Amino acid sequence: MFKKILYPTDFSDVSKKAIDYIKQLRERGSETVIVLHVINQRGMQAIERYASGNSIEIEQRIMDDAKQQIKVIEDELKKSGFKVKSMIKTGIPMREILKAEEKEENVSVIVIGSHGKSNLEDIFLGSVSEKVSRKCKSPVLIVKR
Ligand code: ATP
Ligand code: MN
Repeated sequence: MFKKILYPTDFSDVSKKAIDYIKQLRERGSETVIVLHVINQRGMQAIERYASGNSIEIEQRIMDDAKQQIKVIEDELKKSGFKVKSMIKTGIPMREILKAEEKEENVSVIVIGSHGKSNLEDIFLGSVSEKVSRKCKSPVLIVKR
């Protein structure tokens, strides 16, 4: 039923919890996972503005770190028998997630964490999961913390 999964991750604990559910979907016939991490453009702009001189170096480090973390997830999902495509984009997370949904053909479900890095206790849903679930076309599985 959910052949192709779009899995956006900010590498937070809640988004990692989503991996357990994705693995269970493998047993139910899911075949492909698109793992997407978005490096927040706003953060990059702040670095360019304030880390005068070595901003390129910092951005490179952020990119290398993202590559490393996404690789770990990719390997874990491959071990579970998935076909995996991982992507790192720079931009506005919500927008890049919706773009990926549109561009990748036949996404059948988006698996996303209820919260991410900020993980504020008194909010029901983080802004990314809230906006994505409101605006996307696919069914959404929101994994609670
Ligand atoms: P907020 O960012 O609104 O302060 P939060 O960090 O607790 O709150 P969200 O950012 O909405 O919550 O994160 C919820 C889920 O959205 C994460 O578990 C992850 O699956 C996805 N997500 C959030 N940020 C990104 C990102 N930069 N790239 C990919 N996926 C993301
Ligand atoms: Mn967040």
